[in-house]
Amino acid sequence: MGVSDVQIIRTVDDMRYFVKTAKKNEKTIGFVPTMGYLHEGHVSLMTHAKKENDCVVVCVFVNPLQFNDTKDLDVYPRDETHDVTVCKNIGVDVLFMPPVSEIYPQAMGITMTLQKRIGVLCDRTRPGHFSGVLTVLSKLFHITEPTHVYFGLKDAQQVAVVDLLIQDLHFDTILRRIETVREADGLAKSSRNVNLTPEERTMAPTIYCALKEAVQQMKQGIKTKQEVMQLVETKIEVETTGTIDYIEILSYPELEEVSELKGTLIVACAVNFSKARLIDNVIMTCNDE
Ligand code: AMP
Repeated sequence: MGVSDVQIIRTVDDMRYFVKTAKKNEKTIGFVPTMGYLHEGHVSLMTHAKKENDCVVVCVFVNPLQFNDTKDLDVYPRDETHDVTVCKNIGVDVLFMPPVSEIYPQAMGITMTLQKRIGVLCDRTRPGHFSGVLTVLSKLFHITEPTHVYFGLKDAQQVAVVDLLIQDLHFDTILRRIETVREADGLAKSSRNVNLTPEERTMAPTIYCALKEAVQQMKQGIKTKQEVMQLVETKIEVETTGTIDYIEILSYPELEEVSELKGTLIVACAVNFSKARLIDNVIMTCNDE
């Protein structure tokens, strides 16, 4: 496969000019927002975007507004040269890499607050995170006017809130939900995996093993929600040095509490290792009998 050139854009004005020209030529735009340090998970989103659109715009922007912990922001991995190469290999048309001052030229006078799909999962320990995500995505959707937007189900709560954002604020775009890409041993690909120690890296696949076991138990229909959550908790506690942030079973995409294991559900967890917080989930539909 040949390596094509990618146009690197760093300003909002230049990005708008590209979009205006593409629209004038009746081109569809596939948009993939990321925080960079691109891996096969991001590549999957880009490949889907390439198949469905005339042009693909990838954004690499580490959004300070969605980090409630500055230490986490400081250690977030970055590699611009690598990201450019990945985009070239896939045949991405535009790589939008604005500096923070371009997206936030002044302190925000407007904050966005969610009323639904919140108060659970990552919102419990990362207050303000989704507000920051919605703010940056609203800006990026306005700037890039995408026909389709691509998000990974590894961040299932993000997909659920982006779904609400598009509905509630009438963004004229179609949301594509892309399956989680995993390492051979099952660990969900993540930019944060480089911050695992070698020992933690060998333990981390336990998270997905525990989630898969939970699905098996739920399919058999013998265990209660509490019993299934306990099973996941015990496996992660015994087989890793990570500290569990949460394990939850909720309806999906509503993210509401369920008393019975019925309908479409998400089993999700977050585990803190020494320098990396990993999240993963499985979404499944239970038999209604
Ligand atoms: P991030 O750069 O981590 O903010 O992720 C950017 C986008 O890539 C989000 O929509 C993520 O859900 C998606 N993504 C991250 N990791 C994966 C993965 N392992 N499989 C599929 N999508 C992913």
